[in-house]
Amino acid sequence: MEEKKDISVVIPIYNEQDNIFELYNRLVLSIADFTTKYELIFVNDGSLDNSFVELLKLSENDKNIFYINLSRNFGHQIAVSAGLEFCRGECIVIIDGDLQDPPELIPQLYKKYQDGFDVVYAKREQRKGETLLKKFTSKLFYRILKKLTSFDIPLDTGDFRLLDQKVVSAINKMPERNKFLRGQIAWLGFKQTYVLFNRDERRFGKSGYTYSKMFQLAIDAITSFSDKPLSLVSKLGFIISIFSFVIILYTIFAHFVLKETVTGWSSLIISSMFIGGIQLFSIGIIGEYISRINNNVKDRPLYVIDKTNIKQEVQ
Ligand code: UDP
Ligand code: MG
Repeated sequence: MEEKKDISVVIPIYNEQDNIFELYNRLVLSIADFTTKYELIFVNDGSLDNSFVELLKLSENDKNIFYINLSRNFGHQIAVSAGLEFCRGECIVIIDGDLQDPPELIPQLYKKYQDGFDVVYAKREQRKGETLLKKFTSKLFYRILKKLTSFDIPLDTGDFRLLDQKVVSAINKMPERNKFLRGQIAWLGFKQTYVLFNRDERRFGKSGYTYSKMFQLAIDAITSFSDKPLSLVSKLGFIISIFSFVIILYTIFAHFVLKETVTGWSSLIISSMFIGGIQLFSIGIIGEYISRINNNVKDRPLYVIDKTNIKQEVQ
């Protein structure tokens, strides 16, 4: 029987070879503040650099280190989800592998956990070293998300947080494949609180989140937690129909009563382009929801593991 751990730390890794060692040292130091019974679970999400070699080295020298090597790049949210399924701690911390989330904050998160909170998230006070565009898009995204969903997803938080084991097992039971953990955790409820921190610059390497990955995350977040875009589409359709009806009435009136045939090729083109655009947009939104249904129906495994040193029987 494996001994029970006080805390598990899940770290998604994508091209972080130069960050891993420092991250490991800082994690170990800050956890030593409150326990010796811990495990660090690194999920290598198909890194193209030497990250996995680094992880193998660490795990050979330290029995508290575990790795899950995924068969390819599945994306940040899925990498974290994979880690969560293998945790054995009483509580679990999710932290980025690029040192943007300071490991030194973990004792504070743990303190809140001991005070009886089930979810302790780290709220960003400042974001260093991120471009204005990234800050702007992420602000905009959180504000839109808040408008669209009926429950509170905390603003300005990433996935850096501490979760009680019971929260993690609830997450593991949530069947959806388009993961947006922040939203899922907010949806679950439980006793939540936060700790403020300053987000550091990424130490080495560059962000694995391209704008297209961020866009995908935003679409996943919105379509998983809100049906409002669908009703927006029908409202828009309704308004445009009323509008065109009025124009039709006016055209008939102008033709028969005012005796002036409405000329104007440009207005015709503009309005049909406009309506065409709205239609495409609307079909796109509906398509997003359908693709989610499709994904869930396919029932493929969420990720595939190439290699791990975690004993499967524990699962
Ligand atoms: N990451 C991952 N898979 C990916 C992209 C990123 O596991 O496809 C990891 C990455 O190694 C880091 C965390 O997810 O530990 C956050 O990624 P990143 O720093 O690129 O995101 P940002 O901080 O720019 O939002
Ligand atoms: Mg980062």
